[in-house]
Amino acid sequence: MQQVIELERVAKRYDGSGRPALGPLTLDVAKGESLAVTGPSGSGKSTLLNLVAGLDKPTEGAVTVAGRRIDRLSEHALAKFRREHIGMAFQFFNLLDDLTVTDNIQLPARLTGASRRDAAARAGQLMEMLGIQKHARAYPGRLSGGERQRVAVARALVNRPALLLADEPTGALDTASGQDVRDLLLELNRAGQTIVLVTHDLALARECATRTIHLVDGHVALDTPVQAVR
Ligand code: ADP
Repeated sequence: MQQVIELERVAKRYDGSGRPALGPLTLDVAKGESLAVTGPSGSGKSTLLNLVAGLDKPTEGAVTVAGRRIDRLSEHALAKFRREHIGMAFQFFNLLDDLTVTDNIQLPARLTGASRRDAAARAGQLMEMLGIQKHARAYPGRLSGGERQRVAVARALVNRPALLLADEPTGALDTASGQDVRDLLLELNRAGQTIVLVTHDLALARECATRTIHLVDGHVALDTPVQAVR
């Protein structure tokens, strides 16, 4: 089976000594999986996400994402790797308010060197797929939370990343918008997108994940395949 994430005895210590904040942890995530990472505050969820995204480096072990060993890459190489292979969606969307929806979505494609025309075509395709084409020329500030998260997910997918990382994607949304985003993530995973989502939202984990790991004190306390109600 093709693995999108391979963590081999990965540990992260922030203070250089003592007990690691995460690990040592060995974990594979296969292509097509949707993995929910749950656990109490301080259990290591963000640390894990940052290591997989190449936003931080482990103290020990090997991090391989999309077939590439990333824990020894330079900052510059990591930034390029992230743009090309990883899409990220956050709790507070992180959209640029002075760019239109279309321009927000296109931006990562333009940054990786796609032509204006190709970027526009891909953005158009995603807006249609995610049901936000009527907002193409709007500014994010005019949209509801659920719509903004759809735009953020479209932007995350514009470069066809091997991996979509979502950090509390429903955390800032009301119930109806949260459901909307859960439906979207489920739909994307069904279409083959590999997803890792960090969440406190148990409904999100139950409905959108094919597998859940529960972290306690930096270790995997539970690793459960989920037969989501689909
Ligand atoms: P979670 O996302 O589950 O709340 P974190 O990964 O943020 O957990 O934190 C795991 C542990 O590492 C906690 O004890 C936290 O205090 C510590 N930690 C996280 N980031 C840092 C940092 N930048 N410097 C020092 N300690 C950190």
